[in-house]
Amino acid sequence: MWSLPDINRLNEEAVKNATKLNKAVETGFLDGIRIKCDWCDKPAEYTYPWYDVFSETPKGIIGLCEEHDHYFGRPAEGFFTCDDCGKVFITNYTWEYYYTDTEDGDRLCLNCALDRHIEEKENWIASLKELTWEKIRYPPHVIPVKGKHWQKHLEFIGNVELDSYTGAKITGSSSTSSRKDGLNDLRNLVKQALAEHKKCILIMDATYQFAVSIGVYVKK
Ligand SMILES: [Zn+2]
Ligand SMILES: [Zn+2]
Repeated sequence: MWSLPDINRLNEEAVKNATKLNKAVETGFLDGIRIKCDWCDKPAEYTYPWYDVFSETPKGIIGLCEEHDHYFGRPAEGFFTCDDCGKVFITNYTWEYYYTDTEDGDRLCLNCALDRHIEEKENWIASLKELTWEKIRYPPHVIPVKGKHWQKHLEFIGNVELDSYTGAKITGSSSTSSRKDGLNDLRNLVKQALAEHKKCILIMDATYQFAVSIGVYVKK
């Protein structure tokens, strides 16, 4: 299993490199060398800066020839193009994927998916009665581990970690935890959120190999 790289260090390096990368996308040359296709060695006809969901700075360049452009993916294997912001992203560093597919067939980076999720009025919970099993079972995964985009809009109240398959709460020690425990914890977090705020929203804010985290958030 891979571990998440040091996101802060990665971003610092990316900021240093950003001007160079942007220029390379413009000219087709990086450090004086013509950018080649990532799949064969032909000169790249298409160059794409790629991003991750952790910052606004490009992390690298994908070079593709006429034949391999969009041949193994959009535009290449291991990457995707977000249908909302139009940028090219790396699909994942760990088990966690940085996109969600909508019912309409759009593929969105988690940041754009978060924006859509919180814009939708019906996703917000204004009373405990509205905390249905449907809402708990299927909050969309729109915040990655170590993600920061949500901090622009939301405040974190608390989270519960559940087994991805059974829905049982993960406690680390107790073997008697059940789906009901997780539900009760979420109920308490929602109660806590609504005591001070008009409404709150559930968000899947991490996916691991066998577990997910469901967080309760309020508007900033
Ligand atoms: Zn090629
Ligand atoms: Zn996007």
